[in-house]
Amino acid sequence: MDYKKYVKIVEDWPKEGIKFKDITPLMADGEAFKSAVDEIVEYSREKDIDIVVGPEARGFIIGCPVSYSLGVGFAPVRKEGKLPREVIKTDYGLEYGNNVLTIHKDSIKPGQRVLITDDLLATGGTIEATIKLVEELGGVVAGCAFIIELSYLNGMEKLEGYDVLKLMSY
Ligand code: IMP
Repeated sequence: MDYKKYVKIVEDWPKEGIKFKDITPLMADGEAFKSAVDEIVEYSREKDIDIVVGPEARGFIIGCPVSYSLGVGFAPVRKEGKLPREVIKTDYGLEYGNNVLTIHKDSIKPGQRVLITDDLLATGGTIEATIKLVEELGGVVAGCAFIIELSYLNGMEKLEGYDVLKLMSY
């Protein structure tokens, strides 16, 4: 499917110089969203996934239908102060800012095979931090799936040695 026709490019948002890729039109189209989720499910099927992990907020939107379809659970990665129980945390740098990500300490058991999902790979800071959290809990990152890669920001360099699916690239 030509997913690019469902992506709206917003100039200078949220900051000047950023060309934001808005995937809400893709999510709003039943056929396109189902096709994207199905592709990620197909990619994941042979990987023996135990749990899906996604960073807020758009990683939830992609990860939850994938986990439902695979029949496995979903564990959220959230910004500091959002998860109510004991967490581990890590710093990360975004394409446009800095943040701290957290995960519940008991959300992944050692040895579990994890699929990480997010809408978009930019500099790779978010995914790198998410991988760090998963691995600190003893999870095995079996795959990472994105709807979009911004190849000019070189996020793939942070994913060397990991199995990665990207549905489209800019
Ligand atoms: P990274 O950490 O630099 O790879 O940035 C990726 C994260 O920022 C993802 O969680 C995205 O949701 C968000 N993000 C960065 N740029 C964009 C964009 O152009 N469109 C949508 N999300 C973006």
